[in-house]
Amino acid sequence: MSEPCQQPPGAFAPIIDRARCEGKADCVVICPYEVFELDILPPEDRKALPFGAKVKGFVHGWKQSFAVRADACRACGLCVKACPEKAITLQRAQD
Ligand code: SF4
Repeated sequence: MSEPCQQPPGAFAPIIDRARCEGKADCVVICPYEVFELDILPPEDRKALPFGAKVKGFVHGWKQSFAVRADACRACGLCVKACPEKAITLQRAQD
């Protein structure tokens, strides 16, 4: 069951904390608008992570979630609630 969506597409976008995401894909499954896909975090984006996040990333093969269709987000909040790592926040899109 999904919650009613509250915003027009693109008014908000999900932001994924790279130091928290472990690629568990709960957001991929729950988003009604297919905003997320799993992919591998590029090497240049791994450098800025704190040590603990680098260890976690290595253990998980650097698999993370990416908001590839962020402009389809309707800010329903399901992904924020579903993420077991509390890695997702919603941010108002810039004009
Ligand atoms: S808040 Fe999350 S689950 Fe809801 S539409 Fe946006 S990305 Fe998808």
